[in-house]
Amino acid sequence: MHEQTLALHAGYEKDNQKTMAVPIYMSTAFDFGSADFAASSFNLEQGTDNVYTRVGNPTNAILERRFAEVEGGSASLAVASGMAAIFYSILNVAEAGDNIVVSNQLYGGTVTLFSQTLKKLGIESRFFDVHEPEAIEELIDDKTRCLFFETISNPSIDVPNFDAIVSMADKHGILSIVDNTVATPMLCKPFDFGVDVVVHSASKYTTGQGTAIGGLIVERKNLYEKIKGNSRYPYFNEPEVSYHGLVFADSVVSPVLFTFRTRMILLRDTGAVLSPFNTWLFIQGLETLALRMKQHTQSALEIAKWLQKKNIVKKVNYPLLEGDKNYENASKYLAKGASGLLSFEVEDYATAKKILDKVEIFSIVANIGDSKSIINHSASTTHQQLSKDELLKAGVSEGLIRLSVGLEDTQDLIDDLTKALG
Ligand SMILES: *Cc1c(COP(=O)(O)O)cnc(C)c1O
Repeated sequence: MHEQTLALHAGYEKDNQKTMAVPIYMSTAFDFGSADFAASSFNLEQGTDNVYTRVGNPTNAILERRFAEVEGGSASLAVASGMAAIFYSILNVAEAGDNIVVSNQLYGGTVTLFSQTLKKLGIESRFFDVHEPEAIEELIDDKTRCLFFETISNPSIDVPNFDAIVSMADKHGILSIVDNTVATPMLCKPFDFGVDVVVHSASKYTTGQGTAIGGLIVERKNLYEKIKGNSRYPYFNEPEVSYHGLVFADSVVSPVLFTFRTRMILLRDTGAVLSPFNTWLFIQGLETLALRMKQHTQSALEIAKWLQKKNIVKKVNYPLLEGDKNYENASKYLAKGASGLLSFEVEDYATAKKILDKVEIFSIVANIGDSKSIINHSASTTHQQLSKDELLKAGVSEGLIRLSVGLEDTQDLIDDLTKALG
C-alpha cells in the first residue's frame, strides 16, 4: 500500500465501540488484572502499550505503528518534541568520550544541542559541509557513533547527497540518522536510500495546523543486523544492568531494537513522553499529510518561478528550481517534490523589512510547515546572534527572506507578494 493510504488506516484495529476516529486513551496507568501478569509486564514479556503511559500508551501506540508504516520502517517511538527525538537518537548510541559526525546545515536547536549541550555531556560533534561529503571519512574514528544530517535542511534549504553519506556510514559500520521533518515521508523515504534511523519534528508539516509539539524516531527494517555484534554499540550488545543483565541485541525485540531501547531506557529514565492529546492531533494531521504536501510543493515551486522573474529579487533558492545548487540531489531524492520552504534575496535589510511589513496573508512567525503561510528575515531574527562572517558562511545575506508556503490559494499568495515587492 502507498503512504497516502497507510496514513489513514495503518496501525488501528477498531475496538468494541467501532469508533472511526482513533480514541484518546487519557490514562496514566493500566490494570494488570493479576499479579503474574504484572510481574511479566515488568519483565518486558507483555509489550509496552498498557503498563504506564511514560513508556507506552494505546493511543501513542497507534500513531507509532502508523508512522512506522508510512515511513516504511519497522517501528517508531513518539516523544514530546522533535528535539527530544533527536536527543534520544544520539543518547541511544553515544556517551562521554564518543563523537558524532554531523552536517553543518541543520536546524538551529539541533546545532546548539550538538555544539553546546552534548559537549557538556562529553559527546563531541564533528561538522561537515553537505556539499563536501568527501570530507566525512577523515572525521570518522573508532569512537564515532553516528552520522547525522537533514533531508532538506531548515533553514538553509540544502539537499545532501544521501548516497555519499550513507555509503560512508555503511563502510564503517556506523548508524546514519536523518531528520526528515521538512520533506516528510510523503516526499522522501530515507530508508529507500539506505538510512538507518529517521527522526522527525511532528510539530511542523505532520500536525499541519501548527497546533502541537511532538517528535518521532523511526528505525528501518532489519536494523538489528547492523547493531548486533557491532563493537560500536555496546549498549545493545552488553548486559543491561537495569534489566538484570538483559542483552538487547539477543532479546526477542529485534524488529524494534533501536526504538525499544530508547523507550525502555531513555523514556523510562528521562520521560519526554508525548501526551496522548497531542498524539491524537498528529493522527488527524497525518490523514491529510499526503494531500497537503502536494499543495505546499506545487505552490512553492510556482512562487519560486514567479519570484525569479522579478527585478527586485537577486536570487531565489528552491531545491527543484533548475540551476539551484541542490537541483541534482533534489531531483534524485525528492522526485515527488521539495516541500514548502524557499528563500530569496533582495538588495538589503531595509528592502527586506519593507516587504515583511507590507504582506498581509504571510505572517511573521518563527515556524515552518503551518497551513498558514509564513515569512521571515533570517539575519534579524533566527540568525541575529551571528557575526557578518558567520552569516555569510551560513548562506544568510542581509537581504535574505524565507517563506514557508502554506495552503492558501497560490494566486492569492502571489498577489500578496506582488503588493509587497512593488
Ligand atoms: C522544528 C524542527 C526541529 C525541532 O522540533 P520541535 O518539535 O520544535 O522540538 C528539528 N528539526 C527540524 C528540521 C525542525 O524544523
